[in-house]
Amino acid sequence: MSDQIGVRTNEREPFVERGGGDRGAHRGVQRGDIGERPAGPRAHGDPRGVLEDEPQRIDERGFVGGVEVVERHEGLLIGKLLIRDAALVATFDAQGREIAGGSVFIVDNAIAAVGPAAELPQHADRVIDARNLTILPGLVNTHHHFTQTLTRALPQAQDAGLFDWLVALYPIWARIDARAVRASTAVAIAELMLSGCTTASDHTYLWPPGTSLDDQIEVARAFGLRFHAARGSMSIGQSHGGLPPDSVVENEAAILRDSQRLIETHHDRERFAMTRIVLAPCSPFSVSRDVMRESAALARSYGVHLHTHLCETLDEERFCLERYGRRPVELAEDLGWVGPDVWFAHMVHPAPAEIERLGRTRTGAAHCPNSNLRLGSGIAPLGAMAAAGMRLGLGVDGSASNDASHMLAEVRAAMLLARAGGNPGALSARAALRLATRGGAAVLGRDDIGALAPGMAADLIGVRLDTLAMAGAAVHDPLAALAFTASAGVDLSVIDGRVRVEHGLLVGVDVPALVAEHNACARRLLT
Ligand SMILES: [Zn+2]
Repeated sequence: MSDQIGVRTNEREPFVERGGGDRGAHRGVQRGDIGERPAGPRAHGDPRGVLEDEPQRIDERGFVGGVEVVERHEGLLIGKLLIRDAALVATFDAQGREIAGGSVFIVDNAIAAVGPAAELPQHADRVIDARNLTILPGLVNTHHHFTQTLTRALPQAQDAGLFDWLVALYPIWARIDARAVRASTAVAIAELMLSGCTTASDHTYLWPPGTSLDDQIEVARAFGLRFHAARGSMSIGQSHGGLPPDSVVENEAAILRDSQRLIETHHDRERFAMTRIVLAPCSPFSVSRDVMRESAALARSYGVHLHTHLCETLDEERFCLERYGRRPVELAEDLGWVGPDVWFAHMVHPAPAEIERLGRTRTGAAHCPNSNLRLGSGIAPLGAMAAAGMRLGLGVDGSASNDASHMLAEVRAAMLLARAGGNPGALSARAALRLATRGGAAVLGRDDIGALAPGMAADLIGVRLDTLAMAGAAVHDPLAALAFTASAGVDLSVIDGRVRVEHGLLVGVDVPALVAEHNACARRLLT
């Protein structure tokens, strides 16, 4: 038990190892419950508990080798959890309350109370002393491509713009198999969670034979991340004027069939849902117009949301004008792809009148500042989009164009990029953090995350204030400091009432083994 976060003994939570709070140190695997599990073979997806401690273990479907992940969600549920006496609780609620010396009281997977520590219960099944933490809602990542962690910093794609970058990477991504999907998903989620993310959407759009979105969903469940799984797709290959080789595109009927299967298998429409499906062709010009229209009709018949890339680069604008005689937003509008159930990644180059129309329809956008900087795509008109009423959140975008899955770094980049046009007041630290919390929740169509208030899902993070990065900053403004400084990550993460990051370490995850497995997969792609 560390001084930083005191942990009361909780007999109902036997397998969360305690102690060992050295930040940055690898605490090793958590296996306190192994002796309590029933004997017998462990089937894939078995909810009984952690994977065995066998380096490079691959099960019959190629689960993350050597990685122990706590799978038994119910086993992690604490009951009554009190985050007590935080240096600051930044609620991001409707009033934007910031409470010095605040507490958050959680019952099961919901927030029961938020307020000054003296006004909240003093006892719970588990109490976490947060005196040295800023507590805020978990961050929401609205755009990513998890599998791209396999191709970060690839030399031939380091200095290319979007289209050349894609053409360099497609043949490599075409070799991704289920094992690589799982390892890359695990790496991306691990980095996201350690940097403050509690809800993420992923938009993987290449599905080589043997891979499927089910693999990502299973890994996200094992990590306990709240996951909006966007079923990406491409159907127009090079022989039809598209960018990807024909070998990686899918049959259109198969895309729609699999989309429906995924919705019926995994989509949870209820409040506090941990898994939702999104239909997400890669871009309006990478599938046929029929697939765009039919995806929209299918999504709306089930009440699921729609997502795609739009207005990322001027190359894209020229491509759409030449091929369709329409600008990207016009093309999306033609296809019925606007409204409160649609969000676009990037939106760097919309015209003012297009922004107005998207605002009127409450269409959303995932702002991806690091990716836009990295690929030289341009600066998204964030202020104009906000003024028009668009729903706006942040996304780290694919790991091959960032190349980090670091949510707090994305908050900082958003704040800085907004100012690059010459206005230092363009985006405040609090406004950038609001994009990453309430904003992201709105983009994903959720009213149960993004703020700390009674009745909201128990998703929160805590950032240590006594670190080198925070020195000085935390004294003056322990909330803005999260955006102004280069934070290493979070000390605490609670998702759906479960403690998933503690003392800066992922609970139940053997990170070195995960990295080794992931890097073996990355090497295999190039050999
Ligand atoms: Zn993207």
